[in-house]
Parts: sequence; C-alpha cells; structure tokens
Amino acid sequence: SLHVVWLRNDLRSYDNAALHHATAAANDEQNSAVLALFIATPKTWQRHDMAPIRQDLLRRRVLQMQTELASRNIALMALEASSYSDCAKIFSKLADAGMVALYGQTEYELREQQRDKEITQQLQRADITVNWYDRLCIMPPGTILTQSGDTYKVFTPFKRNWLSRLHEQEIRCYSKPKASVLVDVKQLMQQLGVKEMADGDGCSADWPVAEQQVLDKLRGFCQQQVADYNDKRDFPAVKGTSRLSAYLACGVLSAQQCVNRLQMEAGPALEREKSGASVWLSELIWREFYKHILLAYPDLIKHKPFQAETAAIRWRQNKTLFKAWCEGNTGYPIVDAAMRQLNDTGWMHNRLRMITASFLVKDLQIDWRWGEQYFMSKLIDGEFAANNGGWQWAASTGTDAAPYFRIFNPVTQSERFDPEGDFIRRFVPEIAHVQGKEIHWPHKKSTPSGYCPAIVDHDEARKITLAMFTEVKKSD
Ligand code: FAD
Repeated sequence: SLHVVWLRNDLRSYDNAALHHATAAANDEQNSAVLALFIATPKTWQRHDMAPIRQDLLRRRVLQMQTELASRNIALMALEASSYSDCAKIFSKLADAGMVALYGQTEYELREQQRDKEITQQLQRADITVNWYDRLCIMPPGTILTQSGDTYKVFTPFKRNWLSRLHEQEIRCYSKPKASVLVDVKQLMQQLGVKEMADGDGCSADWPVAEQQVLDKLRGFCQQQVADYNDKRDFPAVKGTSRLSAYLACGVLSAQQCVNRLQMEAGPALEREKSGASVWLSELIWREFYKHILLAYPDLIKHKPFQAETAAIRWRQNKTLFKAWCEGNTGYPIVDAAMRQLNDTGWMHNRLRMITASFLVKDLQIDWRWGEQYFMSKLIDGEFAANNGGWQWAASTGTDAAPYFRIFNPVTQSERFDPEGDFIRRFVPEIAHVQGKEIHWPHKKSTPSGYCPAIVDHDEARKITLAMFTEVKKSD
C-alpha cells in the first residue's frame, strides 16, 4: 500500500511534517511504502502570473529533491499536468494503484483551498485517509487573535501576541525521514499512464537548489550578517538582507527552521528590541501577518482593496506610463535601477519594492493591481500574501498601510538609501558617469544623452494624488 506525500510549497526533506508522518506510518506497516509526488501545473501557474524564473526554480528544486530523497530510500514521482483540475485524475489512478493515505501541507489561497477540498472529498469517498498539516506559519492562522477573537488588522499588537506565544514554546523541526521500502517510480508511472515532469529552461540557475546549500546560507546569515541587519537592510547596494525569500516561498526552507537557527545563533540578542536579530524576526512575523490576513479576508484574492472606500479611486489607465515604469525608463534613477534589477535578476530589494510601488501608485496614479501583477510575473519569490500586502501597504489601500498622505519622494529616498549612487550606477549604465549627488537627479542642467527625461513631475503628481485620496475619504 502507498502513503502518498503531495509536495507543493514544502519542497524540503528536513522539517517536512507530511514526509515525516507518512514515513513513520509506512515504516510501521508491512508492505507499505512512501511515495512523494509533485505535479507541475504550468497552465494554472500562468493563470496566477507565476514568473518563469519561479517556475524554473520549482522544477530544478523538484529534480534535486528527487536525488536527495532517493538517498533516504524515498521515491519522488514528478509529473507534468496542465492545471489543478488534472490533479483529481492523477489521484483517482493512484487510488486504484493502492494508495491508502495522503499527506500534505495546507495552502491558503482560494483556488488551492478549493482544489484541496475537492481532492479530500474524492479520496475520503474511496476510504483513503487525508492528513493536512498547517505549517506554513510558525503560528498558524486562528492561533493569534484579538481579545474578541478576531484576526488582527494592525501589525504591532499582532507581533506582541505572536512573540508572547513564541516565548511559551520551543520551535521544533522534524528530522530527515528515511523509508524502508523504495517504490519503483518508472514502473508505477507506466502503470498509471502519466507524464513525467519536463525540465525548465534553466533561467533560475543563479539560485542554488540543493537543500544543504540553502540551509548553509541560512546558517551563514544568522552567524555572520544578522547582527548588522538593522543597520544594513535598507541599502540596496550592500548585501544586508538574507535573500532567502525565494526559498521560503517554495518551502525549501520553513519559517520554523529560520527561527530555530536564529535562536541558536543570535540567542540573547533576540531579547533586545532593535538588534539585527529581533528586527529580522519581525520580518518573518510580517510574513505571517499577511498570511493570517489573507485567510481571514479571502476577498483580497478577488483583487479587492482592504480599505473599501479606496475602491472608488479612479486610477489612471495609462499604458504608456505603465510601460515606462515596467521597463525602468521613468527618468527617476532609483526607480529605473530597481525595475531593471527586477527584470534582470527576478529579485528586488525590499526598500526598492516600496519605492517603485509608491512611484507607480502615487506619482503615476496607476492602479496598484497592475503593479502587483507585474511584480508577480517577474519575482522569483512571488507570493500572493506578501505581494498583495506590500502593494496595498504602498498604495494606502491595505490593512495597517502607509497613510495616504505619506508620499515617498523618489529623489530623497535615493539620496538616503543609495547615498553614493552605487546601486544606480550598477543598473543604469547610461548615467554611470554622472558624478556625485547629481546621480539622484541627473536632469538638473540637461538630461544626459542616452537617458530618458522624467516622465512626471513629482511635486505636481503628489498634489494630484492627495486630491484623489481626499475625495474618496471625504465621501466615506
Ligand atoms: P529579509 O529582509 O532577509 O527578510 C527575511 C524574510 O522575511 C523574507 O525572505 C520574507 O520571507 C520575509 N519578509 C521580509 N519582509 C517582508 C514583508 N514586508 N512582508 C512579508 N514578508 C516579509 N516578499 C515575498 O516573499 N514575496 C513577494 O511576492 C513580495 N512582494 C512584495 C511586494 C511589495 C510591493 C513589497 C513592498 C514587499 C514585498 N515582499 C514580498 C516583501 C519583501 O520585500 C521581501 O520578502 C524581501 O525583500 C525578500 O528579501 P530577503 O529574503 O532578503 O528578506
């Protein structure tokens, strides 16, 4: 009989609850084996605007995991399907082939929840046990609530409550599983008549996918860099952040492993409020905050703003300005450098995500949902809850968002966070020769040849945006 582990956003063998429990159950029974399963669904991924680089990372990670699990006597069957609806067919074939139980980690997005509900019902009708593990967050949704039992809408009290829970418990991680019986996957695939997962195009090759390498990155960060995190995290020209987001998003790493390692390496520093370690922990709590919000307010998936009155804002539908923003041709060097970092590498520094999002919404008055979708289609760490949360924060439409009258000045931001212009020079070669402070605003005398003129006047844009918000706030 087969104990099937359906891997989705938990592509790791350490600290994997589903793998752990499936292996324990199979090893306890005679003639039982564990089968890990991954189903590539490119049509659904595309519908979710998943970036090609993120899709490639998933495929590379699954192939790597196949080798890693084989050394633990566990076979991983990687299949190519099209959309989520194909998953039901695969499970009905597996049921016929002797599947007795399913194990998996829950997901919070609407379509994923719907898919899992249907598969659960289908399998239960066939007397197959289904086990879901809610381990996307350290504190799962529903466990951190206000005194009246509601989901927090403001981060600071959420964080306070979260931290008090952390103090009450020890974060445990599951060890690597080892199975006693190895399934012959080739034979099984033939029997089922299913298609093997295709390779990606390798565009994510700069991101290593071996689990040990990723764990080493986490350890290295906690040992050598986290102490300086609070001082360096806002400067895109230096490597001051962990760059682990892509791994957290597809689950090569769990948040539990991050906190566990942080506690081990940073220890007492975690008790100091502004230490690098406690500020980094705060970022992991933001990750959980947005996931809790998403589960409590599923309307967010339907592109609704969290603050209902902001739905009345009439954003500009200007495709020319939007294209200039996407391509990094706005004439604002820090915005252009940031957008080119995203386009060239699939990742963008957090400070720059805030600056570029604010620029699209508050300097160009373009709908934040256009930007949200564009980010998703490019980011290697694209993740609905964090991306939607970040965009609604910047657009002042979200929960605990930036107040609408707080409008970033892109030139001042540039002077503060890229003081020497090193980051700009790296990504905007047309103005790399510009000396000194002029790099932040090279149009003073005349726009350098080869560089684009500014597409908007910040002071004018600011007034228009304030008027747009005041209008909807007044009528509220
Ligand atoms: P670190 O600074 O090392 O932080 C550690 C981890 O904490 C990150 O890997 C991430 O998992 C989590 N984290 C950090 N900041 C946030 C945050 N503000 N909200 C939620 N989680 C956070 N993050 C994503 O993972 N996916 C996204 O699609 C995404 N879209 C964003 C869009 C906008 C407009 C904004 C403003 C932020 C977005 N973020 C997103 C949050 C943040 O920018 C990235 O998590 C961070 O830049 C990743 O780099 P890092 O791993 O070096 O982060």
